[in-house]
Amino acid sequence: MENQYDITVIGGGPGGYVAAIKGAKMGGKVAIIEKDKLGGTCLNRGCIPTKVLVNSAHVFNTIKRAGEFGIEVKDPAVNVPALYNRKDAVVSRLRQGVEYLIKANKIRLFRGEGKITGENSVEILTDSGEQTEVRTRNIIIATGSEPAKIPVPGIELEGVITSDEALNLKSLPDSVVIIGGGVIGLEFASIFNSFGVKTAVVEMLPRILPQEDEEISRELYGIIKRDRVDIYVNSRVEKIEKGEKGLGVVFEEKGSVRRIEGERVLIAVGRKPVVCEMNGIDITLKGKFIDVDDRMRTNYKNIYAVGDAAGGPLLAHVAFAEGIVAAENCMGRDSKIDYKVVPRCIFTHPEVGAVGLTEEEARRRFRDIKIGKFPFSANGKALAMGENEGFVKIIADSEWNEVLGVHILGPNATELVAEGALAIKLESTAEEIAETIHAHPTLAEGIMECAHDILGAPLHKI
Ligand code: NAD
Repeated sequence: MENQYDITVIGGGPGGYVAAIKGAKMGGKVAIIEKDKLGGTCLNRGCIPTKVLVNSAHVFNTIKRAGEFGIEVKDPAVNVPALYNRKDAVVSRLRQGVEYLIKANKIRLFRGEGKITGENSVEILTDSGEQTEVRTRNIIIATGSEPAKIPVPGIELEGVITSDEALNLKSLPDSVVIIGGGVIGLEFASIFNSFGVKTAVVEMLPRILPQEDEEISRELYGIIKRDRVDIYVNSRVEKIEKGEKGLGVVFEEKGSVRRIEGERVLIAVGRKPVVCEMNGIDITLKGKFIDVDDRMRTNYKNIYAVGDAAGGPLLAHVAFAEGIVAAENCMGRDSKIDYKVVPRCIFTHPEVGAVGLTEEEARRRFRDIKIGKFPFSANGKALAMGENEGFVKIIADSEWNEVLGVHILGPNATELVAEGALAIKLESTAEEIAETIHAHPTLAEGIMECAHDILGAPLHKI
């Protein structure tokens, strides 16, 4: 039958399109429904476009310091249209890649809005206004998330933006106040600040990146502040109002009311799930997210949810992994998701790469732990790159020296953390990392040196 599928995926972001490809590769007849653009938040409004801007910011920072490297450059400037055009070109190229993969795997793409109408049926209101119904053995909900907003007066004022709009500016503002010192807030703070926008961050909790290891968060705070970003912690925003520079942000900091101004206010206080319309079924929710088990299954045995809509860490690479698990289960395997090893990469300057337990978590779970640290200021490659801030920190259990957590602040930390992820996955010990010959001169030597530090015998550190 033409409109009968093994798997119907609702949503074409990282969770959804990977589930569709996996299902098709396993021999399933697969349909995918997307109401906007394939690639979802990550490709169109998240990971990829921000990384293009982060990279341009890095190029600009390096050019501004060119003299240090023995290169003379006169009056470097940011060309905003060219910057945003490059971002669009990269996004469009990757989106074409996803479209090609969908086609090549013979997945039927419906462009329109999907609505679940029963355990085995999904209705699609196509972009051209037609209504179609598909019958399906399994459904995978991969409808993603959208920026959350805070319920404060003034949130609807012109000039208050989310990451979606920040990625599509026509010109750079003179100043920006970012509400939220989490991942999105700090990545944009790094980008804006590099481009010369006067930047402030207002964070409700006592520290920025509250989920990360406290030492990493503290060190990054010092670096960002030194780089002239104003950071206010313990500061809860109460209202946004019109002001001289554009907008005023009023917040309470340790009992006193403060007010700062910016041309734009960027809201980066987390994301909330988007869930498609559902009739004739009663899916259990956990808070606002769809409740799933470790097989990514909802309370219906043939209906799965993956990615941001299903909660868990809101990360594209987690959505990829969940999509694979759900597709495998749809096709008769018995797969489970394992969240033990989920690298966290934050593209600030310097970068943060972390995996496994933070020091605080490890101290709560284990009676004794060992900690190794190695600064990039003692690493030859980092010095050659002129990027010698930050450090590697490894946390191990004290009995076997098994690696429990790896935290890196510094150049290419988001790449380096992959070694930590593999170490934790393989239950490696500090000895095993220390005894692995790491190439010289590389940043990765910092990880090896850090493992030596855990064993009490660092070579290039007193
Ligand atoms: P987040 O949860 O990382 O940070 C939100 C921050 O806002 C928190 O620190 C919170 O304490 C603060 N906050 C909340 N209400 C506030 C208020 N009223 N006043 C001041 N501060 C307030 O959320 P995010 O940065 O918006 O990111 C959303 C999701 O997207 C996260 O799960 C994140 O991991 C993911 N993401 C990941 C990457 C990456 O992996 N590089 C990049 C972007 C986003």
